[in-house]
Amino acid sequence: MAAQILDGKKLSAEIRAKIKDETAALREKGIVPGLAVILVGENPASKVYVGQKEKGCLEAGFASFLHRLPSSTSQQELLGLINRLNADASVHGILVQLPLPPQIDPDTVLAAIRPEKDVDGFHPVNIGRLAAGLPACEPCTPKGIMRLLRTTGIPLPGKEAVVIGRSNIVGKPVALMLLAESATVTICHSRTKDLVDHVRRADIVVAAIGKPRFVTADMVKEGAVVIDVGINRLEEGLVGDVDYAPVSEKASWITPVPGGVGPMTIAMLLENTLEQARKS
Ligand code: NAD
Repeated sequence: MAAQILDGKKLSAEIRAKIKDETAALREKGIVPGLAVILVGENPASKVYVGQKEKGCLEAGFASFLHRLPSSTSQQELLGLINRLNADASVHGILVQLPLPPQIDPDTVLAAIRPEKDVDGFHPVNIGRLAAGLPACEPCTPKGIMRLLRTTGIPLPGKEAVVIGRSNIVGKPVALMLLAESATVTICHSRTKDLVDHVRRADIVVAAIGKPRFVTADMVKEGAVVIDVGINRLEEGLVGDVDYAPVSEKASWITPVPGGVGPMTIAMLLENTLEQARKS
């Protein structure tokens, strides 16, 4: 049976329309949600992501403060800018686009953002709060994945969830969020033995690896929900970490690439920024 599509494009458009309405109401009270995005260097993919974020802000009625810095920027200079943005009341969210040039330590930079303004949810305080089950600024891609899962109506408690990938921005936090929903969570990574056996058990598979078509149909249980986070730029175009056509014959629900998890990430970034503006 062909899987139902988890349409991130449609869901994110609905969320963004709601954010726009709520922003208009907030603006009437004199509050304009403000997002500062810092781009260091000329990474082409980063430029695309930053452009999408700026467009998303403007469409929602936010103030967008884009800071483009040269690749020669020192860590001190970047920290100086973050300190100014931390103190700026018109800025409710600060996002540093990764990756950063080699002379800058990303951990030091992310930890310098005030946790309340960390709308990407990468600050150690927010990750710690998430791990402890406390309210936190949640990382956008995992938050978007959970929102997509919710639309399936499938109850998560007791489900076998297998997350492939253990990065701080996707794998680890989405595993924590699935755990918070009482799923039984396994995290697989590049050193996992018998990965296929783990994935075959899964009711929910989250693939966040960065390897085109890594998850094949023989690895997936009949009726599983398959979330493809991967964005792989090949000559033929954008491809996910899941071998989409054959896997969609076995899965009950699947996210396409593009149009699945990707658009949700920006919607969640806007939602996090709006949330902080409301609290200001
Ligand atoms: P990463 O490179 O930081 O992590 C990749 C993970 O995959 C690692 O934990 C590694 O252990 C695991 N891995 C690598 N080879 C493996 C193997 N053979 N078997 C099992 N595990 C293996 O990547 P990331 O930042 O988590 O991103 C993963 C993918 O998701 C990338 O394609 C990235 O572009 C994409 N991504 C998409 C969004 C979005 O908005 N849709 C957001 C972030 C990342």
